[in-house]
Amino acid sequence: MKDKSLHILITGLVQGVGFRPFIFRIAGKFSLTGWVQNTNENVRIQVTGKPENLESFLIFLKEEAPPASQIEEISASETELIIFPSFTILESNDFSDGVTEISPDIAVCDECLQDIEKPGSRLDYPFVNCTNCGPRFTIIEDLPYDRAKTTMKSFVMCPGCREEYEDISDRRFHAQPVACSRCGPHYELFIKGKMVSDNTVVIVDNVSECIENGGIVLIKGLGGMHLACDAFNIKALEKLRNIKNREGKPFAVMFRDMESLKNYAEADPTEEKSLLSWRRPIVLLKAKSGSFPPSIQQSLNAGLNLLGAMLPYMPLHYMLFRKLKISAIVLTSGNFSSEPILTDNNSALFQFASVVDAIVLHNRLIFNRTDDSVVRIMGGKERIFRRSRGYAPAPVRTSLNTEGIVAFGAELTNCFSAGKGSKTFISQHIGDLQGVETALFYEKTIDQFMGLFRINPSLAAVDMHPMYISTKRGLDFGQLPVVHVQHHHAHIASCMAEHHLDEKVIGVALDGTGYGTDGNIWGSEFLLCDLNEFTRVTHFEYIPLPGGDSAAEEPWRTAVSWLYKVFSTGFLNLDLPLLKDNDAEKISMVIKMIDKKINCPLTSGAGRLFDAVASLLDLVQVATFQAEGPMRLESLVQDGCTESYKFLCHETIAFDETIRGIVEDIRTGIGKVTIATKFHNTIIKAIFESVNAIRTREGINKVVLSGGVFQNKYLLEGTTDLLEKNNFEVYSHASVPSNDGGIALGQSAVASKRRELKCV
Ligand code: ZN
Ligand code: ZN
Ligand code: FE
Repeated sequence: MKDKSLHILITGLVQGVGFRPFIFRIAGKFSLTGWVQNTNENVRIQVTGKPENLESFLIFLKEEAPPASQIEEISASETELIIFPSFTILESNDFSDGVTEISPDIAVCDECLQDIEKPGSRLDYPFVNCTNCGPRFTIIEDLPYDRAKTTMKSFVMCPGCREEYEDISDRRFHAQPVACSRCGPHYELFIKGKMVSDNTVVIVDNVSECIENGGIVLIKGLGGMHLACDAFNIKALEKLRNIKNREGKPFAVMFRDMESLKNYAEADPTEEKSLLSWRRPIVLLKAKSGSFPPSIQQSLNAGLNLLGAMLPYMPLHYMLFRKLKISAIVLTSGNFSSEPILTDNNSALFQFASVVDAIVLHNRLIFNRTDDSVVRIMGGKERIFRRSRGYAPAPVRTSLNTEGIVAFGAELTNCFSAGKGSKTFISQHIGDLQGVETALFYEKTIDQFMGLFRINPSLAAVDMHPMYISTKRGLDFGQLPVVHVQHHHAHIASCMAEHHLDEKVIGVALDGTGYGTDGNIWGSEFLLCDLNEFTRVTHFEYIPLPGGDSAAEEPWRTAVSWLYKVFSTGFLNLDLPLLKDNDAEKISMVIKMIDKKINCPLTSGAGRLFDAVASLLDLVQVATFQAEGPMRLESLVQDGCTESYKFLCHETIAFDETIRGIVEDIRTGIGKVTIATKFHNTIIKAIFESVNAIRTREGINKVVLSGGVFQNKYLLEGTTDLLEKNNFEVYSHASVPSNDGGIALGQSAVASKRRELKCV
């Protein structure tokens, strides 16, 4: 057969992930000649060879692509026959404002792990990397992705590294962060603020010994610092909680390997896949009951049945576990509560030298700060709860033109976004903007994103809440036209954008709080909406929230509000644990606040209903971390119970009878597990009935679920099942958080639609 020539265009995440060397190798494998080139928007390939080899080449291209690459589209077309002497990698096309994607950071690969065991300049060298692995986003200062534009620029490659970097057949060909012990970054160990060693082997010995003896170590990682300690040492855990000066928020645990992990948590094949993926997120797993002693479990994960587990992803982690006798360490963000994760060496020494037992720093700058990402498998799919290391800054591809749209996000769990064509670049997890340091991180990252992705801002999208820091930031951002997007409309639009929906849908947004157009606090919204506008069809009935925002921190206040609504003052004579836990004076003050409407905004927030029930069941009265009530309630739920409580769907959805039923069950001694499960079933039914009524009236069959409350696995899976059994098409989040981390994408989608319709 005669030779043929093909021109191939590949789009997606195909740069900075070892794609061109891979093409070079497979072209050689199938005796093809031609070239490969990076351009602004894609990778271009021209190849000539035997037709059957070209076919195999295309198949190989798809099936054997480097693990961290993500091919979006391959288009191949035959060209006239071009004869080449060989196969070459052409110089990159100059980068204009066209966007090139930046790869997220990639966990160390197996081959590099083998390199640190072999004699040579990478023996025990913890900054080993290659085109298939290593730091990316965290070290990139500008594009095109080239060493000179990364924080590796201060390290001059030694002749050995340079040779590999320039050798097209080498695994480190054009691996920008390539390094070895002769030329690359290194770790230093500080005790009481003094540098005591810069020898990695000595450092690993010391750190593992320190951890085994109950010490706390601050370790600089990829995107920021971690605090580490023995996950089985109650004293160390308590000390760590003291240092972090916070709350009962569950700690993430890093296990030696999958085998040890499975002694403590259940992981099905999908969960294993996430745990082992090159993104190496924290995966929320079901803790095996009885695996950790109760006191440890209490301190580790607040006694919940969920465990945030992850596997090693940096060479240093592996080196530590080689030495450690224990199989798990706590690895939590190195910061004080409410501040962003630390990245700077001087601040680390300044803030932590006298607080922790040892500090391990390295001399590679972190340009883009990232936290560990958090995911959970629900409905058999990976759902992102916190989108940061390993995920950011990969864009979300939408069917919309978001060019120049900067969306500023919400106030808590903030992410912002910037649009380039149909791609929306969502920032890494920023956090709660009310913290001063976090607000500074927000400012800085917005600037960095504008530069990195060459954004020419033309439209700002903000929440309707006039007091959100993010709203204010959007309003004075370069005097752009501004689109205000209602919070729950943004939630639904975010999920729609993720699924390329651009039509009228039924949206169900359940969360804690969001600014409503009637001045009340919304949070259980059944919307009839498209990307442009929405009608609020129904919602959970309003309830006064005594103390406003602070009620979210003290669930007992919402519980009192519910009891007062349902039983009037009669509830004071009911024998309920909540009445014993809180003093009578405080309770009567709350009643007065409700009567006199003092600082008692009305809310339809679903999170608050979960809070109230958690308080009634005495699971929490004063929360020690965000969403503690809902999480404790979900933690109790068990499959197998199909009972539910009564509720009423009229103009709004009323849960008076639900509360009455729960109180009745508590008083007759029904177990908490049953009550919690019945309550969840009630919410699922209420959602279904409301949505079904809307379908009957409007003839719309697509239901979009969003909002932080849908991070509840039982609720999401139960709602989805029931709706699907009744032939609804159900959409929920996967690659974007359903919590407020997803708000920016929704704002961006609404702004794009309104611009298209010339409403701005
Ligand atoms: Zn590697
Ligand atoms: Zn070197
Ligand atoms: Fe929200």
